[in-house]
Amino acid sequence: MNQTWHLLLFILIPVAFIAGWWTSRKKYISDYFKSRRNLYPDYFRGLNYVLNEQPDKAIEIFVKMIEVDSETIETHLALGNLFRRRGEIDRAIRIHQNLIARPSLNHEYKAQAYLELGKDYLKLGILDRAEKLFQDLVDMEMLSVLAYEHLLDIYQQQSDWEKAINIAIRLETSSSADYSRTIALYYCEMANEELQLGEEKNIKELIKRALRLDPKCVRASIMEGEMLFNKQKYKGAITAYKRVEEQALQYMGEVLPRLEICYQKLDKEADFKKYLQQLIDNHTNNYSLLKYMAIIIAREDGYDDAVTFLQHHLKSNTSMAGVNQLMEYVIAADGGDSSRLKMIKQLVDRILDVRPEYQCHKCGYEAKQLHWYCPGCKNWGSIRSLTGEL
Ligand SMILES: [Zn+2]
Repeated sequence: MNQTWHLLLFILIPVAFIAGWWTSRKKYISDYFKSRRNLYPDYFRGLNYVLNEQPDKAIEIFVKMIEVDSETIETHLALGNLFRRRGEIDRAIRIHQNLIARPSLNHEYKAQAYLELGKDYLKLGILDRAEKLFQDLVDMEMLSVLAYEHLLDIYQQQSDWEKAINIAIRLETSSSADYSRTIALYYCEMANEELQLGEEKNIKELIKRALRLDPKCVRASIMEGEMLFNKQKYKGAITAYKRVEEQALQYMGEVLPRLEICYQKLDKEADFKKYLQQLIDNHTNNYSLLKYMAIIIAREDGYDDAVTFLQHHLKSNTSMAGVNQLMEYVIAADGGDSSRLKMIKQLVDRILDVRPEYQCHKCGYEAKQLHWYCPGCKNWGSIRSLTGEL
């Protein structure tokens, strides 16, 4: 009898337990499947709005949905990006933090969420938090190239050139891209900081490193010229400035005024004119050289000679700025009587005023001053002088 009771209890207890569990979970399971049925149409509707570039409607739908599972991670990442693009960084951060906090998230998606959260902080200007996240990605060996690129951006913003050089070297290895021109300009930034502070002990070495990496680094030659000019070593400065002709002629206009002073300091003005004439003969299509020579002729020999010089050269190489300079000298040679010509010159002045003097050859960013870093496309050494072509 005892054995029969034991057998019955052995069977009945688990059955009762399972029945009780089923009764209590039935409602939850049914609700769960109902919610899944309702969930997906909303996600697809939201996604559709994203694809159709109707972010307001997409956000309206997504905001109501907080559930994250493996099927909806992509949507949450897209939503976070949408918020960041709209400048609603706090919302983007909440979404990305929510994703990272999920223990079940796989490595790939976690890395993606780290990257996006880092970009949120970058946009907010909280550089230390962004740096930490990108550094974590490097440590995790996930999305390293993208993480390095953002770290490079951060160190550039902080003018931390040593760290920037370190990252650029790692990027060269990871992405096989060539960063030698950029690293050369980082060395120039370091040299420039020393030059501004009057601490010149490392400048020579920094310039040497820049030129070793990029023999065409114009900025390194200009910096070397500046350093030697400051030390009144004019012969050495002339050699450095003259290097620009071979490196990138379009920057020659930048160094001509300093070069002329160097020759003046050595009492060799005639040699400067000879050198300038040589440049004009070798590079007939560069207006900045003609402009400079015309200024010297006008100053030394008078406006009539400057007019003859420009007339001769502009016949084969017409440029708007050249014609404008010619009009200026004609007006001056005529003693300021040409009121009609003055009126025309004013119109040409207006056209030239709105033209950029410098332009990035990669993104078209326009500027009135020379920058070595393009704020438009974040490239180094891509902004060129247009003065020679105007
Ligand atoms: Zn650019």
